[in-house]
Amino acid sequence: MRHQILRTGVILFGVLFILGVIRLFLPRFESSLEKAAQQKLAVPFEFALPSGWRMAAMPVALRFDSPLGSEHGGLTYNAQPFGARDVSSLPHLGDDLNGCYGYNSDFDDPVRAVADGLVIYANDVGGGWGGIVILLHRLRDNRLVQSFYGHLNRIETQIYDVVHRGQVIGTVGDAGGQYYAHLHFEMRAFANPYIGAGYGEMAVGWLDPTAFILEHRGAAQDDLIPSPGGYKLESEKRNEFR
Ligand SMILES: [Zn+2]
Repeated sequence: MRHQILRTGVILFGVLFILGVIRLFLPRFESSLEKAAQQKLAVPFEFALPSGWRMAAMPVALRFDSPLGSEHGGLTYNAQPFGARDVSSLPHLGDDLNGCYGYNSDFDDPVRAVADGLVIYANDVGGGWGGIVILLHRLRDNRLVQSFYGHLNRIETQIYDVVHRGQVIGTVGDAGGQYYAHLHFEMRAFANPYIGAGYGEMAVGWLDPTAFILEHRGAAQDDLIPSPGGYKLESEKRNEFR
């Protein structure tokens, strides 16, 4: 009888001790759950806009040029225009710009900012994309548009840099040898730094890049004058193409 009471006591003590130990770790477990919940609540980068002062410091894009070749797109051709359907019959959301000699002749050629603007994404995501740069531009009427540069071999700028029309922001790449080197170039009517798939049926918010640049060139086709702001920034020297 005494032995039984003793044994029950020992077991009871053991159970209480184990419960106590578990309770010790509970607050940490809870706080890590809380952290996870907070991380989920954080705005995903696809919807994150730069801070107010960065947006306010954005230059107004008065002119737009071609991102490849000369200012008006000389020495290039458009291998797959906006709206062309791929093998899966989805419309292309941009232009595939190539150097005039085709194949990989344009590999590592300079890719230039189409207008003065703010870098809102600059990262090598690998996969089918490789390097991606997204610029945000403010038009004269305060509307925001963005230019998207895909398959970059090198990225020559970084997030939140203010860049000027004609400034080298990267070089033409082939996404790790998946395609002949070319620049996948999109113009978009929305502001958030969204990557996307390059093709899509519901293409609301995507603009015809060639038509947009022609319409917003702000100069005669033979006018090849660089952005005045391009000479001012020290960061421009870092981004000079060599
Ligand atoms: Zn493309």
